[in-house]
Formats: sequence, C-alpha cells, structure tokens
Amino acid sequence: MTKSEQLFERACKVLPGGVNSPVRAFRAVGGKPRFIVKGLGSHVLDEDGLEYIDYVGSWGPMVIGHSHPDILKAVYDRMVNGLSFGAPTALEVEMAEKMVEMVPHIEMVRMVNSGTEAVMSAVRLARGTTGRDKIIKFEGCYHGHSDAMLVGAGSGALTQGEPDSKGVTRGAAQDTLMAQYNDLASVERLLDANHGQVAAVIVEPVAANMGVVPPKDGFLQGLRDLCDKHGSLLIFDEVITGFRLAAGGAQEYFGVRADLVTYGKIIGGGMPVGAYAGPRTLMEQVAPCGPVYQAGTLSGNPVAMAAGLTQLRILTDHTEIYTVMETSARYIANHLRESAKQHGVAMQVNQVGSLLCPYFTETPVDCFAAAKTSDTKKYAKYFNEMLSRGVYLAPSQFEAMFVSSAHTQKDLAFTVQAAEESIAALGN
Ligand SMILES: *Cc1c(COP(=O)(O)O)cnc(C)c1O
Repeated sequence: MTKSEQLFERACKVLPGGVNSPVRAFRAVGGKPRFIVKGLGSHVLDEDGLEYIDYVGSWGPMVIGHSHPDILKAVYDRMVNGLSFGAPTALEVEMAEKMVEMVPHIEMVRMVNSGTEAVMSAVRLARGTTGRDKIIKFEGCYHGHSDAMLVGAGSGALTQGEPDSKGVTRGAAQDTLMAQYNDLASVERLLDANHGQVAAVIVEPVAANMGVVPPKDGFLQGLRDLCDKHGSLLIFDEVITGFRLAAGGAQEYFGVRADLVTYGKIIGGGMPVGAYAGPRTLMEQVAPCGPVYQAGTLSGNPVAMAAGLTQLRILTDHTEIYTVMETSARYIANHLRESAKQHGVAMQVNQVGSLLCPYFTETPVDCFAAAKTSDTKKYAKYFNEMLSRGVYLAPSQFEAMFVSSAHTQKDLAFTVQAAEESIAALGN
C-alpha cells in the first residue's frame, strides 16, 4: 500500500468518506485520493514523493501558485504577533479598501470565513432589504452548502447522484426557484409568475461548478435588465471568478453591474476567507448599522487578511498575470481540441480566462442539461491517465481546470503531451 492509501484507510475510520469535503474523495473518478504534503508554484508533492502539475489549485485560490514567497512572508510576519483577537485590526481596513479599489460598483465589504457563508449572508441581505422571500438560482450553479442553495446545485453535489441534500427542509427549498443557465426566458417566466416576490437572482457569471459554462452574449446584461424591471437584486457569486477573470472580476470582464457580489477562494490566498460586498446603501443594512444580522468570531482574521491582501496586491501590481493565465488556458484548450480530433474522441472544450473544461460529448455545452451529456466514465479514464502521467486535474467532470500564473511553458508543454497520450488511450 502507498502512504496515501494507508492514510486514506485511517481517514475513512474517522472522517466521513475519508475527507472533509466530498469531491476530494475521488468517488467520481475511482481510485484513492492522493494526500498532499507540499505545494510549490504550479506543482504539488504527495506523501509517496510523487510530483504533479496541479490544475486544482485548492479549487481556485492559488491563482499565483503555491507557497508564493511574498504571501508566506506576510503570513509569518503577522502570525508572530498573535493569531486572532476578535477586535478590529488595520489589515481588515486595508483589505476592504483594496477590494473597493479593485472592483467596480462596490463601496463596502463584510468579511466572512467561506464562500458558503458569503452567499448565505448576501441572500439574507437581499431578502432583508427587499422584504421579499424568493430567490432565483440556476440549475448546475453552486453557491455553497447553505440550505437555500442546495437546490439543483452543481459541483460535488452533482456526482453524488442526489443533487438535493437530505436534511434541507421543504420550507428552505420552496423559496428557491430554478432557472436554466443562458436562458433568459426561463428567468422571465419565474419573475412573472412570482411577481413582487423575488428578492434576488443569484448567478455564477461564468458557471464553473458544472465544468465551465460561459455566459452567452447578452445573458448577464439581460439578467441585469430583468432584475431592474422586477425590483429584484442581482447577485454575482464571484467565489471563483472574483479577481480571477480580471482584477475587477466579472463586473469588469463583462461590463455588467451586480447589486451584491460574493467572494471566497482567491481573496484568502489559501486561507479560509469569504466576503460579500456592494454599494453603501445596501451594505449599511447589515448589523451593526442595519437590521440584517450577520456576525463571525474569526471573521477578518488577521493572518487570513495578511495572506489575502498580499495576493490581491500582487494581482494589482502585476496585471500581466491575467493575460498570461488566459494565454496558457487557451493554449491547453486548443491542444485538447486538436488531440480529440486527431484521435476521434468526441470532445467540447469550454474556456474563459484561466478556467477551462473538456467535456466528452458531441453537444456544445451551454447549460446544465448539455453538461450532463458528457460521458463521465470517459472523464474518469482521462483523469486517471493524466494522474498517472503526473498531471493533477479535478477529480470530477463537473469542475473547472484552474490555470495559474505559476504554470510555466514547460508545465504547459508537459500537460498537452500527457493529454494527447491520455486522449489517445480513450480512443482505444
Ligand atoms: C466554492 C464555491 C462556493 C462555496 O465556497 P466555500 O468556501 O467552499 O464555502 C460558493 N460559490 C461558488 C461559485 C463556489 O465556486
């Protein structure tokens, strides 16, 4: 048995499924998870000394790679003065100022500890300020595991075979209405049928929890217009896209304004952080300014702020990072398409910025139904072929491949070579 296998065996006795988050368990692709000991730049090393080029990047946070020396130094410098106080620190102010500077249309920020918490709180704020109960979300979009959002959810929930979790009450689910991604008419029908009752429409500006599905031209602006017409708020869940598509996230990248924005992943630089943000008028409805209650013992934790703020500073100081990542992702996407064609494998490759995803299907993937036409057994085989060649992909079809600015030309060349061999193996 490998060290990873030994650890997994122990893990399964004391952790449900051997993991602390379902998709890590490799159930969708077969085999056993690798236990990681170290990450440096674009590479991770497992307990058995095997090295991989990493395209999971902690599911998004490691946008400039693992163990960036500036981030480690910031964490260390902060850490030696104490880990948490439950009182304000200067870093929280600097973090909020930095976010407001980088992102269009936001004036105030509230820090929390995860993306789930960010979305849950933003939804509460939307309900609190509009006095309405219902929320529209899109099938296949994932917004964390709060009760109201575990309806038609993407990501790990998709390969569980049971998208809607047990333990979510009918009461919590009944106020969540389901629309189809890239289908404005499906949103309009719900808004009309629930006139004056919809607090918010929440969307991943690029859907990145059913693989990667880009918004069609006019989709996001169409949501903006529909929300304005019906007095509903538009929430961009930018837990993945925030600070990844562009310094100002999807609002900058697509030129569409959201009322509230949620963050996670990248803003922690690898530490557990989330945030929600918006204009002053809305954000001042949050306690202690306003009647919408939300709190957190460790929110704005100084060590987490040090990591996140340093990462945001690097992204602002080196804006070329965005072009570099997009070029790398496009390079991989083009090579995947070529290899699939060459070996007669049906494949669609979606790519937006540094996010991409190959689907094993003839059907262009523009919504959840299309994403589900992918042959997930083929993905599992492809995943394992890639893993055995030293390329670590998401252990599920319905996740993005995260390219970072730390991926070198050498990494990319190695990756597309491994992909060609892996795709060739599928053809047989
Ligand atoms: C990951 C994710 C979340 C949940 O964030 P956690 O930190 O895992 O709670 C919410 N929304 C989107 C779009 C995500 O990708």
